Amino acid sequence: MTYIPYKSRYDTMQYRRCGRSGLLLPAISLGLWHNFGGVDSFENAQAMLRRALDLGITHFDLANNYVPPPGSAKENFGRILHSDFVNHRDELIITTKAGWDMWPGPYGDWGSRKYLLASLDQSLKRMKLEYVDIFYSHRPDPKTPIEETMSALDHAVRSGKALYAGISSYDAKQTEAAASTLRRLGTPCLIHQPKYSMFDRNIEAGVLDVLEKEGIGCIAFCPLAQGLLTNRYLNGIPSDSRVTKPHGFLKKNDVSEKRLAQVRAINELAQSRGQSVAQLALAWVLRDSRMTSALIGASRVEQVEQNVAGLANLRFSSAELAKIAAILVADEHTPK
Ligand code: NDP
Repeated sequence: MTYIPYKSRYDTMQYRRCGRSGLLLPAISLGLWHNFGGVDSFENAQAMLRRALDLGITHFDLANNYVPPPGSAKENFGRILHSDFVNHRDELIITTKAGWDMWPGPYGDWGSRKYLLASLDQSLKRMKLEYVDIFYSHRPDPKTPIEETMSALDHAVRSGKALYAGISSYDAKQTEAAASTLRRLGTPCLIHQPKYSMFDRNIEAGVLDVLEKEGIGCIAFCPLAQGLLTNRYLNGIPSDSRVTKPHGFLKKNDVSEKRLAQVRAINELAQSRGQSVAQLALAWVLRDSRMTSALIGASRVEQVEQNVAGLANLRFSSAELAKIAAILVADEHTPK
């Protein structure tokens, strides 16, 4: 059946400015790391993407290697893009990254110009697109000069294959170096994509300050800690959850008693706010005005719907924030 997006799709979604740029991103964006690959249900992937757009999610995040098999999420996304969203390309922010292992040999990993630009070409081909909106260096490469990696991003933008440049998982010092190099090259760094959730607060110790100073936006990946910060594991490990998938990056050991005790306590607080654990976890990530967007994953339409509905309450009282801090205290990833 031909898909026609809801006319009302922009009425309720909140859009936030990405740093000091001209670009607005939805407060919730959708990533295709899990559940959109060749081993997953195409119909389910399509339903999630359609529902996301209907809810005003304009930003879809990919990387060259999204799995399994590597690259298949791109091919599926490209199919859906051209069948369902073909008349809406200018309403979408589509991103890709390169920096992790993609093909054998010395040119399919890390941060060389050779790898980044070949990878971008492959990604465009898979999605049958002429350009992506943001092209990211997926991780810092300690052995490649920062000038080389950043000049590859700059080239991608100048050649029209990407509209903006971004970085992912760079620490504060690396972010400063990337930002100043890109500025010198004439292509400002638009956005940083770090890991950030109640269970991983590393960026509070420096990265966020650099982003604010440099005017760079911030989109948090794994804001639900891959599903730990939801009600998913409160009564055991469901057979259809990420933990049970052989290619899943969340492992059984991650669902520890310590984590579950924290999630139970968060759940109590969430209920007192009329929210689910996931909704509270996303509101917490978005409480900082330096955050542009929370980049979620999902395995079903209802999760996308529930997470977007949570945007109705992003406010926290100081008592609630203190309660959360007390729940998270002694977490090894919390800055000292
Ligand atoms: P999340 O932390 O949002 O975890 C998503 C998982 O949480 C879902 O697959 C689902 O688990 C569960 N979930 C989501 N919503 C709900 C809900 N309302 N109720 C119950 N469970 C829920 O993010 P991801 O780990 O999926 O990562 C998101 C995106 O971040 C990726 O797709 C990718 O684009 C990006 N990313 C970037 C990285 C980088 O290096 N730059 C690294 C990793 C991710 P289940 O499947 O079990 O139902």
